[in-house]
Amino acid sequence: METWSTNHQKELTARLLVRVKSLAAAIAGKLGRRPVIMEVCGTHTVALARTGLRSLLAGCIDLRSGPGCPVCVTAPEEIDYMLCLARQPGVIIATFGDMVRVPGSSGSLEKARIEGCQIQVCYSPREAVTLARSNPDREVVFLGIGFETTAPAVGLAVKEAAALSLKNFSIYSAHKLVPPALATLAADPDLKLDGLLLPGHVSAILGRRAFTFLAREYNLPAAIAGFDALDILGALLELLLQIQKGEAQVNNAYPRVVSETGNHKAQEILREVFSLAPANWRGLGLIPLSGLKLNTAYEAFDASHRWRLELKPAPPPAGCLCGSVLKGLCLPPQCALFGRRCTPLRPVGPCMVSSEGSCAAYYRYAREA
Ligand code: SF4
Repeated sequence: METWSTNHQKELTARLLVRVKSLAAAIAGKLGRRPVIMEVCGTHTVALARTGLRSLLAGCIDLRSGPGCPVCVTAPEEIDYMLCLARQPGVIIATFGDMVRVPGSSGSLEKARIEGCQIQVCYSPREAVTLARSNPDREVVFLGIGFETTAPAVGLAVKEAAALSLKNFSIYSAHKLVPPALATLAADPDLKLDGLLLPGHVSAILGRRAFTFLAREYNLPAAIAGFDALDILGALLELLLQIQKGEAQVNNAYPRVVSETGNHKAQEILREVFSLAPANWRGLGLIPLSGLKLNTAYEAFDASHRWRLELKPAPPPAGCLCGSVLKGLCLPPQCALFGRRCTPLRPVGPCMVSSEGSCAAYYRYAREA
């Protein structure tokens, strides 16, 4: 039975949808094209598809997905490096589930497991520490994938391993930082973005202030959004109002979770355990200071120091447009492989593997619509 509050929420959502559509249509009339808005977060990509908002707004907003899925933005050479690590004698790879099926040049971690390599799916980095403690004769390597949201938990695991003086635990840090990637996108002349829908989770860690450079340096309107339909529409409305007035600000449309300066404890862990490093992003290329490497004090837990393996350039899978999808230059159905050679059961690129990937979201929801 539907409660008063569910009905009220539905009514609010419907009213907000009408306002967003009419404002976007008025802006489109003025610009002579639909305003281009990028949702940066993979969870927003999925929410837009799941709630049907993407198709409901398609006529008046040009919504593009950005580099917000951590598995998807992991560069092909990093995937190959992980496969190489998995094939080292005595190594157990501990990783989040999505990573296992991402194809590299010589197969995937799933394939490596069939070949006899030890791959263990973990739900938290601390589980990998426990795995190392119960396997003292093996080397446990945790694959550190993700943005500012997951890196603090990895940092905590490293601190725990250090406190326990664990000798058989290390991490391969392929973490990525969102603000430098947004600066790259904002400066890209091919994209011509009118606004950015900012990620609620990353903003909860960094705070609103971490994104004000978008308005100040790039004159780009932005709004931080939560994850239900009402949250997303509220943030879109704030963005469209800015675009209509010709203003550029960073609005916090998710104040129940995001503060001005973020989560200080998480930021402190990041500072203590990691330092900034260049990172290679699928689709966006090498971005200075957009990654995290372990600080000197924790270098003993750095897998890339323990195994001096070569990080060789690797091409993306043939025909796969994941790079362009992640940069907002094309939509998943524009890839010739979409739904034909590339499906969630037989993925060619990471955007079809990950639960937060654009291609997987389009495949699942747009086809059901
Ligand atoms: Fe890559 Fe498959 Fe998406 Fe094409 S449909 S861009 S091959 S993941």
